[in-house]
Amino acid sequence: MIHNYVRTVTSLLFFVTMINVQLSAQDEDVAMIQQLHETILKNGSCYSTLHTLCTSHPGRIAGSPNYLGAAEYTRNILSKIPSVKAKLQECKANHWVRGDVEDVLILNDKGELERMEALSLGNSVSTNGAGLMAEVIEVHSLDEVDKLGEAISGKIVFFNRPMDPTKIKTFNAYGGAVDQRVYGASRVAKYGGVAALVRSMTTRLDNYPHTGVTIYEDSLAKVPGFALSTFDAERLSAAIKKGPVKVFVNTNCRSEGMKSAPNVIGEIIGSEYPNEIIVIGGHLDSWDVGQGAHDDGAGCVQAIEVLQAFNRLGYRPKRTIRCVLFSNEENGLEGGKTYAKEANKNKEFHIAALESDSGGFSPRGFSFEADTSVFKSYYKSVSKWLPLLESYGLQFEMGGSGADIGPLKSQKGLLIGLRPDSQRYFDFHHTTIDTIDNVNQRELELGAGAMASLIYLIDKYGLK
Ligand SMILES: [Zn+2]
Repeated sequence: MIHNYVRTVTSLLFFVTMINVQLSAQDEDVAMIQQLHETILKNGSCYSTLHTLCTSHPGRIAGSPNYLGAAEYTRNILSKIPSVKAKLQECKANHWVRGDVEDVLILNDKGELERMEALSLGNSVSTNGAGLMAEVIEVHSLDEVDKLGEAISGKIVFFNRPMDPTKIKTFNAYGGAVDQRVYGASRVAKYGGVAALVRSMTTRLDNYPHTGVTIYEDSLAKVPGFALSTFDAERLSAAIKKGPVKVFVNTNCRSEGMKSAPNVIGEIIGSEYPNEIIVIGGHLDSWDVGQGAHDDGAGCVQAIEVLQAFNRLGYRPKRTIRCVLFSNEENGLEGGKTYAKEANKNKEFHIAALESDSGGFSPRGFSFEADTSVFKSYYKSVSKWLPLLESYGLQFEMGGSGADIGPLKSQKGLLIGLRPDSQRYFDFHHTTIDTIDNVNQRELELGAGAMASLIYLIDKYGLK
């Protein structure tokens, strides 16, 4: 009897101790996540870093002097954090230049040319020294161009399918419309069209054109492409409804060949598992118009802030935490490709990579993706942490992560995207108004807090 009693008490004590250990681990996590948020909200420097990045190094298109200045500036910021080793990783990217001529003019019914608000699409070719005037045909899809075929020969094709306003997540609306901007110019060239005009990728009606990449098929001729502001897209469409409309386009934009556009890397070597790497990052390049504040200066300074916050709290990570500011996301993805190639060559394993490239707005959660062979078990692991993050307004979902970390997918680590509120992102995306005054300091910092919290949990527990 006594023997049994002792055994019962012993196992009961063991059970109570286990609960205590579990409770204290959870308490420790609650406290750490709170401290990470507090230090970022009270002592964080991501907003002031973003301010300097935007005002001293705006329009950071890869290969430009402003890009190189931004790379040196952020490398220097990272190198000043104790325990961080910072460096530039060489990378080359095609340097596209907008030039100083950019006209899209509509011929009105009095025979006068009136300016419309437009921007050449990124990587567009020029109009070869002289402008061109042609009749405009309005379409709403690439398929419609295929159906029209030779009927568009000699014409300017105007793609006017708006982003779907009924999609609650604006990235889905963007995904549903952006094929016109990316492939429109090449599709037009296939049937002898002379230029493409594309309605800007935004749900808003305003006068700001949104640039963005256009991709040419090598086998086809190249014709210039322009984004029109949504106001002018409406105006052009209304004019076409009344009768034939001619538009004059002129641009001297050009590619200047491959130039240096390094990635910026800062890392803290892990104390227990230095060979397990966790990447946090954004892309340092931006379009040449505006300051690249939301896209994607915000993601870069948030990633830097994670290292700053760990340092301020004296948190020594078990795994290697590497902040990577990628180059050339906007018009070639050379930064992401170069980083993954070097990592594979050096046999580095990335347990996880987290990218913030959806704007510096209030964080709403994270989306997760991975190779199908490992995804389920990773998602089960991270789902256990959701109760720790829900009180910060964060949710988890399955879905895409970030373009720059995509090339790491073959390593079978977990890829994560920060998901901020998306309602205002496409007010600013790729425009002259993507500037620091349109970034809210507190929302930016909360995003950094969310990232730091998740990285802390992955570092502490791994993904078992
Ligand atoms: Zn971006």
